Formats: sequence, C-alpha cells, structure tokens
Amino acid sequence: MSIRLHSEGGAGEVTGSKHVLTVDGSRCLIDCGAFQGKRETAEEKNRALVPDPESIASVILTHAHFDHCGMLPLLSKRGYQGNYYATPATRDLAGVVMMDSAAIQARDAEYLGKQAAKKGQKFDWKPLYDEEDVVKAMGQFVTVSYNRPLAIGDGMRIELFDAGHILGSAICRMSARDRSGHEAIIGFTGDLGRKGKPIIRDPAPIPPVDYLVLEATYGDRLHESTVDAMERLAKIVNETAARGGKIIIPAFAIERTQELVYYFHMLIDQQKIRDIPIYVDSPMAINATSIFQIHPECYDEETHEAFSKHHENPFGFNALHFSASVNESKKLNDLQGPAVIISADGMCEAGRIQHHLIHNISDARNTILIVGFMAEHTLGRRIRDRESEVRIQGDIFKVKARVEEINAFSAHADYSESWDWLSTLDLGRLKKVFLVHGEPAGLSHLESYLREKGVKAVQVVKYGETYDLA
Ligand SMILES: [Zn+2]
Repeated sequence: MSIRLHSEGGAGEVTGSKHVLTVDGSRCLIDCGAFQGKRETAEEKNRALVPDPESIASVILTHAHFDHCGMLPLLSKRGYQGNYYATPATRDLAGVVMMDSAAIQARDAEYLGKQAAKKGQKFDWKPLYDEEDVVKAMGQFVTVSYNRPLAIGDGMRIELFDAGHILGSAICRMSARDRSGHEAIIGFTGDLGRKGKPIIRDPAPIPPVDYLVLEATYGDRLHESTVDAMERLAKIVNETAARGGKIIIPAFAIERTQELVYYFHMLIDQQKIRDIPIYVDSPMAINATSIFQIHPECYDEETHEAFSKHHENPFGFNALHFSASVNESKKLNDLQGPAVIISADGMCEAGRIQHHLIHNISDARNTILIVGFMAEHTLGRRIRDRESEVRIQGDIFKVKARVEEINAFSAHADYSESWDWLSTLDLGRLKKVFLVHGEPAGLSHLESYLREKGVKAVQVVKYGETYDLA
C-alpha cells in the first residue's frame, strides 16, 4: 500500500524529464523526454530509458518540447502499450518534434556511417527509433483538453491546466488513491511559463494539492521586462544592420520562433527596426507555425482578437520569409547585406542553425543573439559563455561575431514568477514541494527562496531516491 515518487530524468539537470508516480506498484510516467548535452553521455542515458516500459500503466505528457516528449517513440518501441495523455495541441506539436528527431537520427546514422567507412572503421550505431516508431507512438495518444477531469485508471484522476509555457503546455493535477484508501493529490508543473507571454494564456491557478513537483530552470535568475527586451532587440538589430551584418538567432522551432515572429511584427509595425528581411529557416518551425494556426483554443485574448476580429495573421507579415527546402536554406549562405535569420535547434546542437553559425560566427559584423536557455555542454552554451573558438561539425571556428543575450523572452518562470504562481495555491494544505528540472545552482537557490517565503518543506529531487507520499 503506497504512493511514491521518483525521477528517472530531469532531476538535478534540465533535460530528460521523466518523473514516475507509483501507486501500489502500478507506475504512471509524467513526461518521457530526451537527455541532451554531451553526445555520448546523453546517448547512453537515453538508451537506458525507464526499466520495463511494458509495465507502465499510463503516461502523461505535459508539453511538446523534445526534453519532455523525445523518448516516447522509444517507449512504444520497447513495448509500452498504454495511452499518452496530452492536450490536442501538445499531441500535434509532439508529432512534429518526434518525427524531426527520427529524421535527424536517420541522417546522423547515414553520415557517420560514411565517415567511418572512409576511415575504414567499424560502425554499428543505430538510431534510438525511426519514423515507424513515431507513427506507433502517435497512435497511442488520448487527448484531454484543459479543465476536463479524467479518470485514467484504478484510483487515478488527472486534470490539465494552462502552464503558460508553450502552445498546449499543461500543469497536471493528479489524484491517486492506494488500496488502503490513502489519497494524495500531486501537481506536476511540467515547465512553468510566465504571465504576459504573447500568443498563449498565463499559467493558470490550480485547485489545492498535497504535493507539488516544480521546475527550477531559472531558480536563481530574474528576467528583465519584456518592454526593455523589445527595445534591446530593436537596438541589436539596428546596430548590426548598420555594420552590414546579420543577426543569427538560434531558437526552438516551437513557441520561441513564433514569439520572435510576433515581436518582429510589432517592431516593424511601430517602425522601430529598419526594413530588413527576416528569415525563418527551420522546416520544423514552419510545420509548428501551421499547428499554432489550428489551435485557437490555446490563444490569449490579444491573439484571439487579432485573428477573429481584425483578420490579421500574427504568424506572418511582408518582411518575413520561410525557407522550407534545403536549397532555399543554402541560398541564405550567399545572402548579401543585413538580415535576421532565425533557425533551430535552439541549443545549436543540430539542424540548420549549425550551417548559419559556420558561415557567420567568424565575421565581426554579425551578431549571434541568444534568446533561450542553453544547457551545459551544448554548443549554444559555449557561444553564450563567449568562448573564443568553438567546434562545429568537426571544425574549429573563431568566434568573432558579437554575442548578445536577451533572457526576457524565456518561456520559463524566474524564481520570483514561480513564487507568484505558487503563492496562489493553498499553502496550508501543501505538504511538500519537490524541485526538478534545474541545474544545481538554480535548484538550491529556489529551495532556500521558497523556505524564506514560508513553504513548509522543500525537497530537491535526487536520482536514485524515492519519496513516500502516503
Ligand atoms: Zn519546455
């Protein structure tokens, strides 16, 4: 007779989210994300996955970021037969993200195989999963809209609330009852978003919970205001354009790219930036943008109005160009004069952004603009840390372009915003807050900050530790 919690990913680090709630031995998984960072380590951890996938009873997906949904196809491949519960927008976006990963892995296998063959080396690396596994995983989704409570098994109920992080993102409130009648209500924030983000609604308050599993990505940081950030964005674009340079922005294809498009739209309308072309060079971002357009149920008031009343499209405008094909993408290499290029992957670990960095990072006229979190050991982090040279696809490049950072566009709450949301909970009832999804500095700062604010018990979740909830 027991209700227990442990983590198999996203504990003491920001990638690989996998939290497991076990009720009388029956396991429910919250998110099944991919580890990212140092290639070999990440690969090893991803292959280890959760033990006995076929014994998992249900899986809840909080949102479609790769570090939360990326290993679902592997779970299906290894024999998981149950449902993936997620909002409709999350299901659609996750489909794009997982398919993209399958394609990248297939390309890697081909490329690395050829490289090894050239050197006469043995090569037996296989992708973690392929497109067929993604199709299988897609067939296991059961979509649940926000605020529609649902029984998902013996004594288990879930309800999803707006997390304000990306389109479709959800906070999951789960009630579990074991055979002896003990009950616990647990909230999983997934990634907690912020108030006032464009397109999507703010993080919603949720009914009382006994335990909260809270993310801590920016547990030791405060974001600047969006208004100041818009001014800085305009300044960076104008200064770089005046030098004749390009602005290269690594951005996650989902949400961040659409938000940037939204901000550029505003800056152009307000005539705050010079008239320069803006390219979104990411097939996944293009697919994701079309998914944004078919999920008005996730929009905030402003976006709703723009679409329904003024028939404007916040996801497109004249100066904006999407490059879907490889040829269109390659043409950007020969582009003369100032331009903005937004491309993925957000942490520069894969994808077309690497080609744009190769072509632009050693030119002092250009600017690399960092707008998102860069995990340890990623190329994005090395650029953010202003290392003088970086290795990209095997070659060394001098970093001569300016490196600028704007954190205000972050999709994660900072510690003060986390508290603003947490303080709307019934704190008398809340027995403990479990901190996950953070690096050590962020976790320990948020831990002491919450204690100072009067939260009774705060626990930084550790690998290998199991916590009794009833
Ligand atoms: Zn996320």
